[in-house]
Amino acid sequence: MQGLMMDVPLLLTAIMNHADQNHPNQEIVSVTADNPLHRYTFTDCFSRARKLANVFNTLGAGADARIGTFAWNDYRHMELYFSISCSGRICHTINPRLFAEQLIYIINHAEDEFIFVDPMFVELLEEIAADCPQIKGYIVLTDAANMPESSLPNVMCYETLLAAESDAFEWPELEENTAAGLCYTSGTTGNPKGALYSHRSTVLHTYGQALPDTMGISALDCVLPIVPMFHVGAWGFPFAGAMVGTKFVMPGASLSDPKMLVDLINDEGVTISAGVPTVWLPVLKYVKETGRNLKPLRKTAIGGSACPLSMMEEFRDLYGVQVVHAWGMTETNPLGAANNHKPATATLTGEALERHLQSAGRAVPGVQLKIVDDDGEELPWDGVAFGALKVRGPWVCATYFNLDQPSEAHAEPGWFDTGDVATIDAEGFIRITDRTKDVIKSGGEWISSIDLENVAMGHSAVAEAAVIGIHHPKWQERPLLVVVKVDGAAVEARELIDYFDGKVAKWWIPDDVAFVDEIPHTATGKISKLALRGMFAEYVLPETSAR
Ligand code: AMP
Repeated sequence: MQGLMMDVPLLLTAIMNHADQNHPNQEIVSVTADNPLHRYTFTDCFSRARKLANVFNTLGAGADARIGTFAWNDYRHMELYFSISCSGRICHTINPRLFAEQLIYIINHAEDEFIFVDPMFVELLEEIAADCPQIKGYIVLTDAANMPESSLPNVMCYETLLAAESDAFEWPELEENTAAGLCYTSGTTGNPKGALYSHRSTVLHTYGQALPDTMGISALDCVLPIVPMFHVGAWGFPFAGAMVGTKFVMPGASLSDPKMLVDLINDEGVTISAGVPTVWLPVLKYVKETGRNLKPLRKTAIGGSACPLSMMEEFRDLYGVQVVHAWGMTETNPLGAANNHKPATATLTGEALERHLQSAGRAVPGVQLKIVDDDGEELPWDGVAFGALKVRGPWVCATYFNLDQPSEAHAEPGWFDTGDVATIDAEGFIRITDRTKDVIKSGGEWISSIDLENVAMGHSAVAEAAVIGIHHPKWQERPLLVVVKVDGAAVEARELIDYFDGKVAKWWIPDDVAFVDEIPHTATGKISKLALRGMFAEYVLPETSAR
């Protein structure tokens, strides 16, 4: 028997309309190249989104055109998010930090028709435009007064196009599985692969994200997404914030400018933020050095890579900020798990609490998780067994966009193999121990590089740490700790290695330490183990460990 409830499609248009009717005067504050502090309301945003939909029609964009965005977090990018998807087209966010070959591959693979580009990235596109011949036009996200000189073919000015259109536009009633967004993985091997989000998947993700034990955001919050809108939709904050009616503070190109971020947090009353650990390192350093504070901030989501315990403790103990350690990926829209307490963990103290904080959380309702061994057998949720983490759910990618061969990650029907290795404890909390390919295999056993990095980050002389496996004649691989020292700190390898004593199993302790000026990062701000392994390809471990 069928239920007798209305079959109303789950559309981002409904989120936009709800926000427009219920939070019309809520503010969006943006830092842009042409205005250091632009302010307007949700109503202004959605009115311009309707004009933009008319622009797409005037330009002749196809009914399901992929429209590329090369843009920072700001109000114009918000307009693009809503207008592209709600007009039935597909918002293809592109990460400008990718290499030229990857950009060309992605733009051509997606068959983008138009690209909307921040003035700062115009030169970057000029270099690759000849290799993307199907692009019908480039629209620069600025006004006529700030329009740069450009050799891009058919280059247009965003504000000029908008000014020519009416804000009368009837959003189409789409089928809920219509594609809404496209984001490519920033995989380190092989070509990037496209995760194609639907209206339905994104709406359900938005509800999941807003829940109290996920991000727990409300109309009284002010959100500063430091995580870029050009990668996995700024972790869903643009839609979740619009749905619940938060104020938005959009930092534009200042994602890595600690002073600007701290100014925005204090001046605009930011209560919730989100970013990868590497963006928070300079912010915490800056706040400490200047004696400033983060008073309005009540919590921040940190994920994308493991958040060091020392960072969570610094946020909590010095600034009263709760870190919601979260796990997810491009293929999961991205939120899969978030670490908030439940009764069994709320009373933990000391080492048990420390260990618990390093968990990337429990599944966001709607997402199912399991860990399996090499034979695909499910492993127990005992917090000890670790295996390949698999995931399923309505906002998990079922297959990649336009792939010419089936992906191995989808080999088991109904499940997606994340490529992560994890444990799950009896309360459902996952602990990511590694990417499958980053696990260190020593004497047939696995060593977690993430756990070792976490310990190293607790040492006061360590600014950033990464651990990789180095070939060993007897043990197959042994861990090498690579460290960037805190400015002016004097620390020797020996002291750092001794620091591991009692904190991890003896045989996990790194064999050696290499000091470097900088650790390489990927386009999404994560430590690039691939580049690091390249840097240390010729490295030979000392005959006897530095221990
Ligand atoms: P991306 O698709 O670029 O967002 O990267 C997703 C990957 O980032 C995951 O598969 C994990 O390897 C890693 N990741 C995300 N969140 C965490 C976390 N909290 N701890 C450890 N690794 C994480």
